[in-house]
Amino acid sequence: MIGVVRNLARADSALERLEGFRALIEERTAHQAGYPYNLDYDYAPLLPFLRYTLNNLGDPYIDGHYGIHTREFEREVLAWFADLYQLEDHWGYVTSCGTEGNLYALALAHERFPDGILYYSADTHYSVRKAARLFRMRERIVPSQPSGEVDYEQLERALRAGRRRAAVITVNLGTTLTGAVDRIDRISAIVDRLRISAHIHCDGALGGLLLPFMDGAPRITFKETPIDSIAVSGHKFVGTPVPCGVVLTRRPHVRQMETAIEYIGSTDTTIMGSRNGLAVLFLWYAISERGQAFPQEVAECVQNARYLRDQLEQLGYHPLLNDFSTTVVFDRPAAQVCQTWQLACQGERAHVVVMQNLDRERLDRFLDELRRSRVTDW
Ligand SMILES: *Cc1c(COP(=O)(O)O)cnc(C)c1O
Repeated sequence: MIGVVRNLARADSALERLEGFRALIEERTAHQAGYPYNLDYDYAPLLPFLRYTLNNLGDPYIDGHYGIHTREFEREVLAWFADLYQLEDHWGYVTSCGTEGNLYALALAHERFPDGILYYSADTHYSVRKAARLFRMRERIVPSQPSGEVDYEQLERALRAGRRRAAVITVNLGTTLTGAVDRIDRISAIVDRLRISAHIHCDGALGGLLLPFMDGAPRITFKETPIDSIAVSGHKFVGTPVPCGVVLTRRPHVRQMETAIEYIGSTDTTIMGSRNGLAVLFLWYAISERGQAFPQEVAECVQNARYLRDQLEQLGYHPLLNDFSTTVVFDRPAAQVCQTWQLACQGERAHVVVMQNLDRERLDRFLDELRRSRVTDW
């Protein structure tokens, strides 16, 4: 068989190549401002675990036949999130990303209400639309306000028009582009008023870990509001070297999804079969080491986001910073700046999401480059 498989690189040059790649990635990491990823972390104590195939195959609450897994840690991570959101009888798992959490929650909602209609705002992340397509759900897209927050009157109108069917509603706790927060209390009041059965899913990819630690922010609570599920990304606020996420729901909702699978000695409750046990350790370690400091980390991100907004205002970039968000939207700068700082652009707007790694010094460097780019533009 040797010779059939093309060599990617000789052993010595493979190491050289990786060294070069590492330098490139290091440089890009120093200039990342467009995506909501905390790149500031240290997982060195977990390096020894790279030697093991940690696979949390199937359900997190049933230890199957395969013994090399981190379910014990996974259940602690889930319990921490459940506690954060005041969810008493919880079920969930550590997903491969926020998208998987949305897919899982909407699959569950669809299972609960097979004839239901999925409602989501125009500013919703594309993974919700993906779920609608995959599960062939009826959908209604509701207009948003200019801030990116759902237009509640339009939502009520759409729900009233469809009120003979159950509703599956996605609530954005921080939209992707503008960081706008849909109000759980206002949406559940509408559902109450119209007396419709509903599954309310919260997309908390980023905001799921910002809001609980922000002064005056709307609470994410399963106890005081009728929300049914929430998805959060792990590599965004927490920051992990591999993408991951968490999805949580009320345990009674899940019972109907369970199917026993003899081969793995477990039940088939998760979307993915093999699941990343190492990602669980990253989350568990970050929560154990930094959990107490999360409010402080969020406060610093908020302060820095305000600083960036004020500076951009002075420079004439028409910035927008929504309440309970660290996403600063502004006029799209010169192409060179967008490229260097890896800014996500949509039409004439761009944004910077201020995370823990974007401290004052980095922001000043970014602002300097903006100023210089204007000089050369003219
Ligand atoms: C990032 C994001 C997602 C998707 O999360 P991934 O972890 O990238 O799959 C979903 N919704 C919102 C609002 C997001 O910002």
